[in-house]
Amino acid sequence: MPLFSIVAPFLNERESAERFGAFADKLALEIRSRYGFDLEVVLVDDGSTDDSIERYREHLNGNWRIIELSRNFGKEVALYAGLAETRGDYVMMIDADLQHPYDVCIQMIDELMGDPKLDVVYTIRDDRNEESWKKAIAGRIFYWLINFRQRFEVPENAGDFRVMNRAAVDALLRVRDKRRFNKGLYAWAGFRQKGIYYKPDPRLSGETKWSRLGLIALSVEGIVSFSALPLRIMSIIGVLTGLAGIVYGTNIIISSLVFGIDVPGYPSLMSAISVLGGFNLALLGLLGEYIWVTIAEVKDRPLYIVRKVHRPGDLS
Ligand code: UDP
Ligand code: MG
Repeated sequence: MPLFSIVAPFLNERESAERFGAFADKLALEIRSRYGFDLEVVLVDDGSTDDSIERYREHLNGNWRIIELSRNFGKEVALYAGLAETRGDYVMMIDADLQHPYDVCIQMIDELMGDPKLDVVYTIRDDRNEESWKKAIAGRIFYWLINFRQRFEVPENAGDFRVMNRAAVDALLRVRDKRRFNKGLYAWAGFRQKGIYYKPDPRLSGETKWSRLGLIALSVEGIVSFSALPLRIMSIIGVLTGLAGIVYGTNIIISSLVFGIDVPGYPSLMSAISVLGGFNLALLGLLGEYIWVTIAEVKDRPLYIVRKVHRPGDLS
């Protein structure tokens, strides 16, 4: 029987285990009756510190399993670890906190199965009305930067919640980026993709693992690993300030030497020093970001470590 896999990472989601079990059981029945697929469930425990594993283990059956990572590696890497374990002809990635509505899962599968030309159906979070204007502007700048003159386009607000065929999954698995920016990788990999809009359900228990700082850090990593544009902008700013410096300096020299005007120094000196100092530090920081990403690749550590694979009926 052909196989359909779902991958769901969790970090301290003990409250969701029971609902997740019910969700997966329902999906298994529906997928079997509609498409004749067996369901394989690959949960990834991304270093939970509570008893999430025990909770989820109660709901394992068939070829379902939990990949327990040796510590928290972050959702991006946890998803990779899960994908690497799947054997399905199709794979769907969902959040274990069940903010992804069941109906949207079915809709995605329908779309993908219904169109043989498609390889991937992904979802776009439709929260345009709730977004603050600051977040909207930051988003615009981010997507403009990351998509500037690329051969592929990262769609706005497309998430990890998606269904892919085996070819698309294998392509992602071949990308060994250490600092993974999934949104970018999905677009980079290509394939025929279709996006559908959805509204995430509210979180029923626990809390989001994303802080504002965490999101900013992820965005910086995304830009740094997909675009050299920030470096180019800094170079251009450097050249322009250099040119302005030459013009201004010449002006001063001519004023004092030729016309004998006593040029007052302090304010101009101070502003030049602080502006240039600021640019210099910003550029150093930016370079540092690129070097940090490079270091991770050079060290070539394994992406993740598995502590244990839990299968139904295991004793401990
Ligand atoms: N998650 C994870 N590792 C992490 C952070 C989050 O496996 O380091 C899981 C989390 O348990 C949830 C999913 O990723 O199942 C999405 O996280 P969250 O709900 O916090 O994000 P949001 O839905 O708020 O975007
Ligand atoms: Mg969530």
